[in-house]
Amino acid sequence: MGKKQGHNHCSFCGRSDSEVRLLISGIDGFICDDCARQANNIVQEALETNGEAKAAVDGKSNGKFGRLDWKTLPKPADIKAYLDQYVIGQDDAKRYLSVAVYNHYKRLCQEKTEDGVEIEKSNVIMVGPTGTGKTLMARTIAHLLKVPFTIVDATVFTEAGYVGEDVESILSRLLQVADFDLEATQHGIVFIDEIDKIARKSDNPSITRDVSGEGVQQGLLKLLEGSVVNVPPKGGRKHPDQDYVHVDTRNILFICGGAFDGIERKIAQRLNTHVVGYNSVQNVARIDRNDLMKYIVPQDLKSFGLIPEIIGRLPVLTYLNQLDRQALRAILTEPKNSLIRQQQKLFAMDGIELTFAEDALEYMVDKAVEYKLGARGLRSIVEAIMITPQFELPSQKEKKFEVTLDYARHHLEKSNLAIAESGV
Ligand code: ADP
Repeated sequence: MGKKQGHNHCSFCGRSDSEVRLLISGIDGFICDDCARQANNIVQEALETNGEAKAAVDGKSNGKFGRLDWKTLPKPADIKAYLDQYVIGQDDAKRYLSVAVYNHYKRLCQEKTEDGVEIEKSNVIMVGPTGTGKTLMARTIAHLLKVPFTIVDATVFTEAGYVGEDVESILSRLLQVADFDLEATQHGIVFIDEIDKIARKSDNPSITRDVSGEGVQQGLLKLLEGSVVNVPPKGGRKHPDQDYVHVDTRNILFICGGAFDGIERKIAQRLNTHVVGYNSVQNVARIDRNDLMKYIVPQDLKSFGLIPEIIGRLPVLTYLNQLDRQALRAILTEPKNSLIRQQQKLFAMDGIELTFAEDALEYMVDKAVEYKLGARGLRSIVEAIMITPQFELPSQKEKKFEVTLDYARHHLEKSNLAIAESGV
């Protein structure tokens, strides 16, 4: 090997020997010094990634995530108090979730005992309209416990063989979030959103065989019930040459969420059909027709089209309420990382003190109610109002800025959001 003279070319970049510093010859071609260096970098990167994946295959820990310890495990009341700092309202859901999470990790910390009592896993299902805090709650808990957390959308999963992701990729993602720390992965939390979208269309399988929904539910079942799943560490499709990581899902906490649009009707039907006898008549009188969600039971999920096996694996069922005006107003300013605090922090970094007039905040809430976008809408509204000051203020001398009602109204009305809403 050595530098060749004449009209030889690098087989990678095509440059001739006069254009490069060094051209190294191989059996059937050449490589220049630049391409050799680049190839070296690629090899290094690939080895590093494989190394991480290999550590996971071997079950090694990288120590980034905390190990659960019985003595430091927060009590349900502590978990709820932590949730209260970030999530407004939804008291029932917070209580259920706090207890489920506490029991789950208690179960993980339990010593092997001789008494034969084994605590079963308590995966959770949360039912409630979109934008009411389901994801926020699951994320906040994962943050508190310092365990890996990932969100997946149930609708992207299809049965093997169709286009889409397969259920193994859920675990692949969790493994990546955990930096390939297998032990941490196996204690992680997976939030499966839109679980209602994979319900079969009828709860009677013999009438309409709705394959897509039921097949995906069967796939999920495998994960939920605790089994060792062979996961391709880098995600993607299974490949015969790839080393698999054997992820045991027994101790992964699955929290499912879904809007289950129209489930109130199923609840109402059940409540109406089950009333027989004098006591029941009295009970019916006590039913709060405006808030049927709080009467939800697993049977209603079955009527909606979840298969009984899935429901059985999601023993903790709770619900979230639609956010009312008062809750929306609180969401603007009260949570630790509320939308308004986030804006104030952004401006503070430019040395600007940002304030909001109370009537401007009320106006934003009115608009969120009007647009029917719940808490999600609040964020779009705040962004639409704040885009101009975010653009202009950092280069101005003024160090104080108040968003008044007129300012908020003016900027929201000329934004795309308002134009979209008015249907112009
Ligand atoms: P979903 O119920 O559809 O999972 P999310 O939890 O993703 O809704 O809520 C979307 C956003 O709305 C959150 O990031 C948060 O900013 C805000 N939000 C929703 N509900 C609440 C709540 N109860 N308290 C505080 N913020 C909330």
